[in-house]
Amino acid sequence: MTISNVDPISGVDRVDGDSLARALLDILPAAAILASAEDRGFYSSDVYCAGVTADFVVSPDSVDSLQKTVQACTTRGFAVIARGGGLSYSGGYLPIKARSVIIDMSRLTRIVEINKMDMYVTVETGCTWVQLYEALRREGLRTPYFGPMSGFKSTVGGALSQGSVFLGSTRHGTSAESTLSLDVVLADGSLLQTGSASGVTRPSPFFRTYGPDLTGLFLGDAGALGIKARATLQLISFPAESRYLSFSYQTAEALLDALTGVSRSGLAAECFGTDPYVQSRRIHEQNMAKDIGYLKAVAKGEGIGAAARMVWKGRRSLGGESFVMNVTLDEPSRQAADAHVAMVRSIAMQNGREIEATIPRAIRSLPFNYPNDILGDRGERWVPTHALAPHSRGAEVVAALEKFFGGREDELRRHAIEWGYLVFAVTTRTTLIEPLFYWPDEPMPFHERMIEPQYLARLPRLEPNPEATAAVHSLRSGLIQLFAELGLAHLQIGKAYPYLQTRQPAALNLLESIKKSVDPRRLMNPGALGFL
Ligand SMILES: Cc1cc2nc3c(=O)[nH]c(=O)nc-3n(C[C@H](O)[C@H](O)[C@H](O)COP(=O)(O)OP(=O)(O)OC[C@H]3O[C@@H](n4cnc5c(N)ncnc54)[C@H](O)[C@@H]3O)c2cc1C
Repeated sequence: MTISNVDPISGVDRVDGDSLARALLDILPAAAILASAEDRGFYSSDVYCAGVTADFVVSPDSVDSLQKTVQACTTRGFAVIARGGGLSYSGGYLPIKARSVIIDMSRLTRIVEINKMDMYVTVETGCTWVQLYEALRREGLRTPYFGPMSGFKSTVGGALSQGSVFLGSTRHGTSAESTLSLDVVLADGSLLQTGSASGVTRPSPFFRTYGPDLTGLFLGDAGALGIKARATLQLISFPAESRYLSFSYQTAEALLDALTGVSRSGLAAECFGTDPYVQSRRIHEQNMAKDIGYLKAVAKGEGIGAAARMVWKGRRSLGGESFVMNVTLDEPSRQAADAHVAMVRSIAMQNGREIEATIPRAIRSLPFNYPNDILGDRGERWVPTHALAPHSRGAEVVAALEKFFGGREDELRRHAIEWGYLVFAVTTRTTLIEPLFYWPDEPMPFHERMIEPQYLARLPRLEPNPEATAAVHSLRSGLIQLFAELGLAHLQIGKAYPYLQTRQPAALNLLESIKKSVDPRRLMNPGALGFL
């Protein structure tokens, strides 16, 4: 009888695995190396699907041990993949082959420096957005972009590597625009500093564009070029006054007109809209526990009066039958807020009516919460897809979406797949369109570990439905193909959106040369951005 040397799950040769395990134990405590099949399976799955199971999951707690870990893996021919909070759904950190090690960044959470004089903050990239927000708020400060809706668990490093928008993004742009400098661990374990911090004399991260933008090179790279260990972000004063407005519209065109108009005014911190399907889901999903959480937060921040208004007027005027636009303004004073609210109203009410601003107020009252929305309120699976278009093409993309889904109605009906969309204004120029899928299938073990236990216990547990999930895969691929044909852009490229395949030759050649320079053996997150 021959004894196989191959691990049945990962397919890795145990001799190599043992050598790496010994090397890792010299660098990290045993508790920071997860080798059980269950843990490795969890860390090798995202919100949407599972990848090839990683051979090891390791959690360094210093930049030095991160560098040594990367070097130990790559010198033995193992791929390394950074994972932040694990809250993405475009396969970014999913291994695509055996001999992969996931580097869990969740123990690299230090806030290294809050520099109030030069207005920047340096953090280790495993810091979550909620941790950063709370630490800065105590100092009367904020980063301009200050996190995605998943920021209760998702990390600074994940957002910078994915490209992320939400809190603050209509005014301040994506996570990239708030970033000054990075410390990046390259595939050989060496550390690269970017921006003015790359100087030899008294380096400091205060200025990003000193010469070619090396910081920008690593932003939105899906971790294909290196592992961000530390990031320096800009700071602004915490706004003195925030205001909330919501409006309802009869058509998608009217919503998009209002959204782009408000966006072009440059006044909104956040401006986003929902179609009637997403709007009505939002109303149904307001379960009591969540409401109470939000109400407590509103009452704490804005007083009992605002919380009471939310209860009495909010549910009646959420606008479940229509398209809804929500606007948040961040202002330095009450006078500025009054003036800007009037200006936004005059743009937004040309074709719509004002409703109670329940949603933007609730979001800002509790900006970061458990990621319970990764399942629908009937226990269904959920996944978003998105594309970025210039404002001038938003209506064209929404029409293309309607046509796409209209042509696949039989499939949608047969598998009880539902869809709707969000729109979000990113700066004065760009509309993000985000179709959401909901479909009946059982949760993955990933969902069971990510969702708040009490919330999960209340959700119905659906039967396995692989046919519906396969149909969603096919629809989602079709949609991604459509977006590529329309020449649209994406954040969260990961391994889901075609990036390298859609670049012009000159850009492709440069990208290939850069990859060759920083990761000649292609061991840094294989598959990300399309680098195989
Ligand atoms: C409920 C929910 C709400 C969401 N809301 C938003 C939203 O409002 N806006 C938005 O933009 N997105 C949103 N997302 C998507 C996603 O959560 C964000 O993009 C988030 O920034 C991902 O961060 P993460 O730490 O979870 O990254 P991960 O999912 O862990 O990783 C994402 C990618 O980044 C890479 N990576 C992670 N850390 C590093 C590092 N230190 N160095 C190099 N590469 C790294 C990974 O390899 C992977 O390719 C949401 C997702 C969910 C589930």
